[in-house]
Amino acid sequence: MRICVVSYHSSPLTPVGAGKSGGMSIVIHNLYKGLAQFFDIDIFVRGNEGIIQMGPRLRVIHIDRRDTYDFAEELMKYHNAHPYGLIHTHYWLSGLVGLVTHGLLRIPWLHTLHTVEILKTVTRDNARVEIEEEIVRSCDLVVSPTLQEMSAIKMLYPDVRVLSIPHGVDVRRFTPSLNGHANMLFVGRIEPIKGLHVLIDALRYLRRDFRLTVIGGQSKDDPGLSDIKSYAAGLEIEFKGQVKHQELSDHYHRAGMLVVPSYYESFGLVGLEAMASARPVIGFKHTGLRETVGNDAGILVTMNTRNLAQAIRVLSADPRLRHRLGSNGRKKALRYDWSNIVRQYQRMYEKIIEE
Ligand code: UDP
Repeated sequence: MRICVVSYHSSPLTPVGAGKSGGMSIVIHNLYKGLAQFFDIDIFVRGNEGIIQMGPRLRVIHIDRRDTYDFAEELMKYHNAHPYGLIHTHYWLSGLVGLVTHGLLRIPWLHTLHTVEILKTVTRDNARVEIEEEIVRSCDLVVSPTLQEMSAIKMLYPDVRVLSIPHGVDVRRFTPSLNGHANMLFVGRIEPIKGLHVLIDALRYLRRDFRLTVIGGQSKDDPGLSDIKSYAAGLEIEFKGQVKHQELSDHYHRAGMLVVPSYYESFGLVGLEAMASARPVIGFKHTGLRETVGNDAGILVTMNTRNLAQAIRVLSADPRLRHRLGSNGRKKALRYDWSNIVRQYQRMYEKIIEE
């Protein structure tokens, strides 16, 4: 069976952690590498690098067309030559391609939003909210990484079919090690929604020396890295910039805990990477971390600076607690190994194609 994947916005071959390339690229890379054991997969991305064989039965096909209709037209040529059994679009920009091809392809259309614009509490783009609504109402199935997001989508659009399969983590890349100190780690693209400034506020509030390492480059649409660096002046914060995904494991090992101060986090892949590395996670209750970290692999609080500061204070002062939460995290993370997640997707794809 041939599967058509659309990731118009970002390629699974681009280094992650800056610009527009983040968790979604990691998800697409790992998910389809695994699924290529069972299906022939073509991932369509925007670009001019031709066709790249990413692995056996797995190709990345670059289409050098900015316009959605032109992009869709090129994709259709591949389908007409060798029909696909299913199309899975990722992120709203790929959903636009789905809106064009839907009806022409006559195969099931699955969509993953990755970020649900209407659920964002800050910087919401209303035009995008409307487009996402049209996409979820038009596709055959929405796939969401959390039960919480699935319920929210069902509440907003009761007639839409949604199911939830979590994202995964590579438990052989992210491995446990002894947790000997209380250094904090932040991993993510630097953009306001990731809440780095809230973490800086919390550290100021604590008025003590806490060491924080910040990993991640500037987000594409946000020039705020230099602002955030000046905001952090006087605190023990080291900005490492973007780090290769293959080298990240060492940074989790060097940290005592991960802090994820995001206002909005659909899933929060970094939380799962910290868990697999046996590091406790501090973050906010309303985010996707609720389903991975929960209440036994870190401390999740109601969003405000003081609560965040208090969680940092507690975890920094208690190595035993860090160890216990970290070990729980590793145990839980094993359930999310990509091999398990890939199996769930395989069964789901087969079922949808059968229907
Ligand atoms: N990441 C990375 N290098 C960096 C910063 C981030 O490899 O310098 C990776 C990180 O390990 C994670 C992903 O980028 O896998 C970020 O995913 P997350 O879901 O936390 O955030 P998103 O980018 O999707 O908003």
